[in-house]
Amino acid sequence: MTDYRADFPILTTKINGGPLIYLDHAATSQKPQVVIDAISRYYATANANVHRGVYTLAARATAQYEAVRDQVAAFIQAPQRESVFFTRSTTDSLNWVAQTYGEQAVQAGDEIVVTAMEHHSNLVPWQQLALRKHAQLKVIGLLPNGELDWQSAEAMVTDRTKIVAVAQVSNVLGVTNPISALAKLAHQHGAILVVDGAQAVAHQPVNVQALDADFYAFSGHKMFGPTGVGVLYGKLALLKTLTPPQFGGEMIGEVTWEHTTLAAIPQRFEAGTPNISGVIGLGAAISYIQQIGFDTLRTQEQQLTAQLLNGLLNMPGVAVYGPKSVAEHGPVVAFNVIGCHPHDIATGLDLAGIEVRAGHHCAQPLMQWLQVPATVRASVAFYNTPAEIDHFLAILREVREFFQ
Ligand code: PLP
Repeated sequence: MTDYRADFPILTTKINGGPLIYLDHAATSQKPQVVIDAISRYYATANANVHRGVYTLAARATAQYEAVRDQVAAFIQAPQRESVFFTRSTTDSLNWVAQTYGEQAVQAGDEIVVTAMEHHSNLVPWQQLALRKHAQLKVIGLLPNGELDWQSAEAMVTDRTKIVAVAQVSNVLGVTNPISALAKLAHQHGAILVVDGAQAVAHQPVNVQALDADFYAFSGHKMFGPTGVGVLYGKLALLKTLTPPQFGGEMIGEVTWEHTTLAAIPQRFEAGTPNISGVIGLGAAISYIQQIGFDTLRTQEQQLTAQLLNGLLNMPGVAVYGPKSVAEHGPVVAFNVIGCHPHDIATGLDLAGIEVRAGHHCAQPLMQWLQVPATVRASVAFYNTPAEIDHFLAILREVREFFQ
């Protein structure tokens, strides 16, 4: 395995006297120096507001900002740059779809379909839309191993369904969903497919055209980029039918006291000054991923996930949730130490500098399905090392012995 730790300055930090072992990538990833440098370079050499100024610095900022739109479009294989616009986060992108397409398309008696493994960000906006519209929220069930139950999907999606909203990869179970098959199913019934790609884009190549997603949402901060910047991809034909949810500067053509014409897409959907430095940081993160290459990145993550999953499965007194086989398992493993509160386990690990998440992982209905109040969750990235996973497993054994 190639060691990329030196790219991430935070990894020299000591936590409670121990070297930092960061295993909470599903929550947010650490940032390589190239991303940190790109953000400070922007402020040091190119800071100006985008799209408006006629002066050189504004043109420089605009060029850098718009270059990232091209980069993102190529990264997710969008057919054109206009299909990509910047938001604050995955959550912001998904709410955007609910507040535009959802408001326009969903009527009383219609259906919105999600899965039982959704993050609250891809559940609550749809639930609230359904409540506002007197529509029905329907939930695709899971198989006992946590994978999506295809029979349930076929039963849930009907001719009354307007929107199917699904995560590409679960942030708890590590399951990957059959996105293109779900797109086909949704389209057969005249519905659109909205994909929450938050846990996918940093770990596998994404081709929104091959997936046939109508909308695809993700966050910069889970893919080695900064917080506060997200992306929404939408099919252009759909975007053209939507009224912007926000009005103001940047998104207009001409304004009089009586009327306003709208700017062309995508500016139409980016009201106000955007997160310019965040977008530029996201561009640097994409370049960094591309420089490593998804082949290397995936090989390393799969090796680490196998080590993590097998180590947990072979540990007595530990329950692992989700698929027990590494094939198709995303780089996240949820587990509990029987009889111990997940917070105690996470706190015990933290005392040794190992950072994992404990809680409901913003998926409370999934916790109900798993019949647990919470779990511990360890999630890796390509720059973790086998030695870190071994150390995590060794400390977990000690913590378990202390509490059990
Ligand atoms: N969807 C999934 C599957 C996630 O894992 C997360 C974050 O954990 C989100 C959505 C929300 O992402 P953000 O908080 O960046 O909006």
